[in-house]
Amino acid sequence: MDAPTLNSGPNAEPRPPARCLVTGGAGFIGSHLVERLLAQGCDVTVVDDLSTGRRENLAASPRARLIVSELSRALPALTDEPAFDEIYHLAAAVGVRRIIERPIESIETNVHETAALLRFASAGRARRGGDGPAVLVASSSEVYGKSARSPFCEDDDCVIGPTVALRWSYACSKAIDEHLALAHHQQTGLRVTVARFFNTVGPRQVGDYGMVLPSFVSRVLAGRPPEVYGDGGQSRCFCDVRDVAPALPRMVRTPRCWGRVFNVGSDEPISILELARLVCRTLGKPMEPAIISYDRAYAPGFEDLRQRRPDLGRIREAIGFEPRIRLEETIRDIARGMGWRQADE
Ligand code: NAD
Repeated sequence: MDAPTLNSGPNAEPRPPARCLVTGGAGFIGSHLVERLLAQGCDVTVVDDLSTGRRENLAASPRARLIVSELSRALPALTDEPAFDEIYHLAAAVGVRRIIERPIESIETNVHETAALLRFASAGRARRGGDGPAVLVASSSEVYGKSARSPFCEDDDCVIGPTVALRWSYACSKAIDEHLALAHHQQTGLRVTVARFFNTVGPRQVGDYGMVLPSFVSRVLAGRPPEVYGDGGQSRCFCDVRDVAPALPRMVRTPRCWGRVFNVGSDEPISILELARLVCRTLGKPMEPAIISYDRAYAPGFEDLRQRRPDLGRIREAIGFEPRIRLEETIRDIARGMGWRQADE
């Protein structure tokens, strides 16, 4: 079912494996995607500046190559190579803490690099003719902003806070990325799909940039209580990256996904306080989470959202997406990645 449909069909001649470009492929979601594409027989080029990604996330393969570079610097050299069939654009400045600490760099990365990538993809199509690459652009549930609706549907209004609150710069930069992607589809016919990721979790995610689940797991493994910001009543839906990654090639290869935006994630909410307790229970470390005010955790005036839950109707209908991995399993696998072993292992 997952074999590249661009190269398949009942009477299709076998073709060489798809040539894929994965930007940010040494990162958390990107590295799981690369693994998937290699398993499908694709040739994969990763461009990653290793700002948050890690070389160790990528297993050595004769069909994979890593170009360590800022994306926009790497693109000119790639112009002279054989065309890519598929492009997955995941490179971005990610994580609330990073955005607040390094706002200029984060905004510039998220807007400029996406603009450069989309121009590269559209120009390749114009220069070489044919259909050009099919492209996926990673966006975020942050674009819904502080909308009070639940669940969020792709065509809902985005309600972004004031520009003086740095937190919203990430949402705005991702919204511009979406506009750019859809504009390329409209103006140049680029076959592009926007994936709005909700909280994605799993092995290889690190807590350094404010990601909640790996932060909880590493604190609990160190014997310290997980720190819950605010009152802990805010809820999120967490989806395992091993459910998310296989969906991305399917979106790229499904023509009715092109020119559209899709929520990608789980639609089962859990409060952050309950998540912290679940981590303690699952890892067998009975502890009560510590409650920390937002002012102490970030800066005075930090705005958080009470809930964020996707409507998955569109992606279910388009590619039959259904998350399967339970949160406890994800927690255990994140912990194993940090050296934890269950008592009976
Ligand atoms: P990540 O930080 O692990 O991955 C981003 C990768 O991009 C890293 O490997 C980083 O080194 C690389 N990168 C950053 N700037 C670059 C540049 N200028 N040139 C080349 N490489 C660069 O984060 P992730 O969680 O894997 O996120 C992947 C994508 O998904 C991002 O676009 C992010 O905004 C989006 N997203 C993720 C989540 C989530 O829950 N993980 C939620 C919403 C959206």
